[in-house]
Amino acid sequence: MSTPVFQVIRSKNYKRSGLLHTRAGSVQTPTFMPDGTRGAVKSLTPDQVVSTGVEVVLSNTYHLHLQPGEQTIKKLGGLHTFANRKGPILTDSGGFQVFSLAHINKITEEGVTFKDPRTGDIVTLTPEKSIQIQFDLGSDMMVAFDDVTALDETGRMRTLEAFERTHRWLERSLAEFQRLTKGMKERERPLLFGVVQGGLDKDLRKKSLGIVQSLPVDGIAIGGLSVGESRKEMHEMLEYLAPLYDDSTRPRFLLGVGDPIDLRFAVEHGIDMLDCVLPTRNARHATAWITGDKKVHLTNEKFKEDTEVIDPACDCTTCESGYSRGFLRHQFKVGEPLAGTLVSIHNIRYLQRICEEYRS
Ligand SMILES: [Zn+2]
Repeated sequence: MSTPVFQVIRSKNYKRSGLLHTRAGSVQTPTFMPDGTRGAVKSLTPDQVVSTGVEVVLSNTYHLHLQPGEQTIKKLGGLHTFANRKGPILTDSGGFQVFSLAHINKITEEGVTFKDPRTGDIVTLTPEKSIQIQFDLGSDMMVAFDDVTALDETGRMRTLEAFERTHRWLERSLAEFQRLTKGMKERERPLLFGVVQGGLDKDLRKKSLGIVQSLPVDGIAIGGLSVGESRKEMHEMLEYLAPLYDDSTRPRFLLGVGDPIDLRFAVEHGIDMLDCVLPTRNARHATAWITGDKKVHLTNEKFKEDTEVIDPACDCTTCESGYSRGFLRHQFKVGEPLAGTLVSIHNIRYLQRICEEYRS
């Protein structure tokens, strides 16, 4: 019998630690995955990313498809070679970005037509196309394409039609995935995650989870949260879903959540994987997390002559190297990009340390 994709090592209540096996290596969970939107985690070298303990990097299908294009990346050796990334890469479906960043022309049963914001070209993305792009990129973990128009900006359901289409699109994504991976050995093929939608409507969420779990996908992704709803609403939904997951053989990935408080809540309610731009975005705006999930703004006047590192309890390379708050404040003040790099390392490490706490 072959080893399952995901093994639970320890579990208590809803929280669990596990091992996720991908063709690019195994991943300890819970795990935080920084966003390498355009192939690189902003301002960090691959070695710096690895130094934070990160085991998976997420890349965006939408951005890479529009520029430079998956065929160019394929000619440059695939996303791993292109981005100098040795470990596992997860790609999203592009759906969320199409609906949030692009000017949509048309949504039909077939797919979404939108205007490339940079070139003005008309682009069509379908469930099949999204899977083909992710396949050409060389992704180790893919996400099925879904119709996010079902949600308004606070995560509430807008149309039942879009909700139902999401599941038809999931079946098409799965069929395309099976076609492309046919004949590949179990350990050589990428993994596919199906996305649970339903906004803040508990009945729809339950229905959606049931549909996704009934299909032979490798992982369960929870989409459509952290899109503008309140923290209380998001936590209530995670709490509601926790007892509804069917078994322990598939990893559960919460999309787009990376605040320390939310990360803890999610892991305590059965989530194994999370991704977010927050640690690097905050870092570029001089905001760092410190022990107790508190935030400090390093440009603050009070740090002007502060010789202490960002967080003395932190073992990231920035803190261990001794960069003082006073130094970092100055570099932010003069617009030196190094400051964003150093604080990004710290913030990603902060989230990874929380994950490590839950693993042990
Ligand atoms: Zn640190």
